[in-house]
Amino acid sequence: MTLRPISRRRFLQFTSASLAASCLAPSVFAAGSLPRRAIGMPFPNVTLPATPPPAPAAGSVGFAVVGLGYYGMAIVMPALARAERCHVAAVVSGNPDKAARAAAAYGLPDDAIYSYDNFAALARDERVEAVYIVLPSGLHADWTEQAFAAGKHVLCEKPMALSSAECTRMISASESAGKKLMIGYRCHFEPYNLHAMALMREQAIGKIRSIETLQQYRMGPTSPADNWRVARALAGGGPLEDYGIYGLQAALYLGGEMPTHIRAVTTQPANDPRFAETFASVRTEMQFPSGATATLFTSYDTEPGRNLVAVQGELGSLVMEPATGYDGQRLSLTKNGSSEELAPGDPAVQFHRQCDHFADAIRDGSEIIVPGEMGLRDVRLMEAIYASAAAGEEIAL
Ligand code: NDP
Repeated sequence: MTLRPISRRRFLQFTSASLAASCLAPSVFAAGSLPRRAIGMPFPNVTLPATPPPAPAAGSVGFAVVGLGYYGMAIVMPALARAERCHVAAVVSGNPDKAARAAAAYGLPDDAIYSYDNFAALARDERVEAVYIVLPSGLHADWTEQAFAAGKHVLCEKPMALSSAECTRMISASESAGKKLMIGYRCHFEPYNLHAMALMREQAIGKIRSIETLQQYRMGPTSPADNWRVARALAGGGPLEDYGIYGLQAALYLGGEMPTHIRAVTTQPANDPRFAETFASVRTEMQFPSGATATLFTSYDTEPGRNLVAVQGELGSLVMEPATGYDGQRLSLTKNGSSEELAPGDPAVQFHRQCDHFADAIRDGSEIIVPGEMGLRDVRLMEAIYASAAAGEEIAL
């Protein structure tokens, strides 16, 4: 099939007009969908620690955790408690009962509980040096800016934001405040993914020919009124920003190069309340300068659930499945006709190592390996993916 490249001018038209206006503008959401502002939500399916963590070590960086949802309470708070140079110093939530229970479980005093309304008071709280933003993705930019305005460093969950304009604002706010910004790309601290990166760097399977990624599951009945992940104002296009971003990241950190061409197709079934505002699936093809290609598929409406990253080289292949989960990773390397299963470490370390990496940057001035610029890069690529799908054409980057 011959692909007709889209011009840069048309690409910009698509990204700025069709995306920003019809997909990603803050004010656009259907009546009845969750609002694009911070509100409290019920207690998630999380068990709080039975006893508070020990007192933080001298020099430990105090974090305020913003948004006590599943990831915030099940992963981020325990990771901060386990990290060597970080601790939970405050919580920010729109649900006072939940905040009180979480604060008690982490041994925090009542005056370390904040709401979205008194967030600015964090500026006067010297116990808090950094803020971890674990809000729905459409709220990342605004609350990152507010955190910088309060004089704090910011670790922001993925995706960095829903548009490159928002990412640029976040980076500018970081620079103006003189505070650090990092994106929660935990796979850069996860032993299986780190080992796969090292293998690809040393060309363990020769020159890379192709990369395939699948990040998919079937979402149960839901709607934008109940679930921010399918509300456009909070989730952007949906599965790509939330889950497919792992495949996109893996294609870049294993391939080691940026694509020159992107072609994508989105699907959005009619009359399905789950996909009234967002896409069900996104399929992307990328071409790289070396001649390698990548095929990325992500979906909220495909069974069975898959989380695959596979690289085919001229001498063999590397397969990771599950590739980017919280745990249970598997990695196999096939070369010269024989396969070996590799077990380079415990995936559970990814969460607290990520936090300690940020603390190292704050305390020692060391380089952040997953900075805001990387988040911006990825959001730009997602904009190109949507622009290609909207145009029905390949985009030359
Ligand atoms: P949840 O829906 O579980 O929690 C989101 C929390 O945000 C809510 O509990 C609520 O906290 C707060 N919130 C504020 N405003 C709103 C609103 N308008 N609608 C819904 N919630 C709101 O989401 P997750 O914890 O799964 O995801 C949060 C972020 O973490 C996302 O950016 C997501 O991409 C990222 N994430 C990252 C993962 C990773 O592996 N790195 C895995 C999962 C998520 P409260 O009640 O305290 O105010």
